[in-house]
Amino acid sequence: MKGTYITDITQIPYFQTLDKTEQERLLQVTSTFPFRASKHYLSLIDWNNPDDPIKRIIFPNPGELSMTGSQDPSNEKNYTVQHGLQHKYAQTSLLLLSDVCGGICRFCFRKRLFMDSPRQTVRDYGPALSYIRDHPEITNVLLSGGDPLILPTKHLTKVIRELREIEHVGIIRIGSKMLAYNPARITEDPDLISLIQEASGDEKKIYIMAHFNHPAEISPLSIQAISMLQKAGAIVVNQTPVIKGVNDSPEVMIELFRKLSFLGVSPYYVFQCRPTVGNQVFSVPVEQSYKTMHEAFKQCSGLAKRARFIMSHCTGKIEVVGMNDHNVFMRYHQAANPENYDKFMVAYSNPEALWFDDYEMLSPGYVPGREWLFEHDPRSYGGTASY
Ligand code: SF4
Repeated sequence: MKGTYITDITQIPYFQTLDKTEQERLLQVTSTFPFRASKHYLSLIDWNNPDDPIKRIIFPNPGELSMTGSQDPSNEKNYTVQHGLQHKYAQTSLLLLSDVCGGICRFCFRKRLFMDSPRQTVRDYGPALSYIRDHPEITNVLLSGGDPLILPTKHLTKVIRELREIEHVGIIRIGSKMLAYNPARITEDPDLISLIQEASGDEKKIYIMAHFNHPAEISPLSIQAISMLQKAGAIVVNQTPVIKGVNDSPEVMIELFRKLSFLGVSPYYVFQCRPTVGNQVFSVPVEQSYKTMHEAFKQCSGLAKRARFIMSHCTGKIEVVGMNDHNVFMRYHQAANPENYDKFMVAYSNPEALWFDDYEMLSPGYVPGREWLFEHDPRSYGGTASY
């Protein structure tokens, strides 16, 4: 196997151990949803374990062929203002810099980029940067894709330096799974570390939005890469969806949150798996995901449990804030329509629901007043803060 990345599944020795029918099925999957993995990542798999979580993240699954779901479940097309540039929330814009990743997660929510479809990432980022320059309300820019760290450092340097020249852009975020897929991309590139040092100064920071789904992905090389980024001045946080068979148990989440917080990496968002085409096999019902996360929180320090549980819906980031036997409580953490920001919603419980759209609202548009919180006995609130 030559090179850092493998895109031909038949080169994986494990594939050769499968019978012909299984092989054909997997080739059928990869002809629709391509395969790509780094040698580093493949080396973390215990091929004798049929339930190995890393294998489940990267190795094709025949269940993907069910083909339910959308290619663009968050309707990103609707928020695309320039080729490769999305502007959904006033203060944030998202630049799709690359249509390649260090590996292809089987549950990717943006897998349309890797499928046989017209290129959606920026070719010439000049117009996108002009748009950002002309919109002073944009204070943070998320570089995404695909994985921006797959690009040569020279290319990244150009984009990041130009962004740093825009006064109103305070935060540059780099969404990357490279810390899991190929941490050597970071540890072996002193120019990348110098770029982070240059662009993450005292007043404006670079944030690395890491993407660890399972504690087994955090290899010694990942730890070294995280530390190098932190020492260079970057703030590293983590986001992950809840994925069936990977991290849908409190025990795994506890270990993931703890490991990350020990490394100084805040768990930031925990996402509900989006209803992307072929992803249903990885989806966990909303209420189960919420319970798993909160069960894990019980055993984590406050630092480890700063994450919010979010559905990245086409209308905004909807946070599930609580539930009881009858209802699920949600609020808009971010809203495409500013009038919806912070809107509180009460839905009838639906243990089968996989997405916001599967819920029936108790009272559409209902925003409870503060007194609603204490309607039974306002005095029970007491007024003493507890930690
Ligand atoms: S790293 Fe992100 S963009 Fe790349 S395949 Fe995984 S989920 Fe998709």
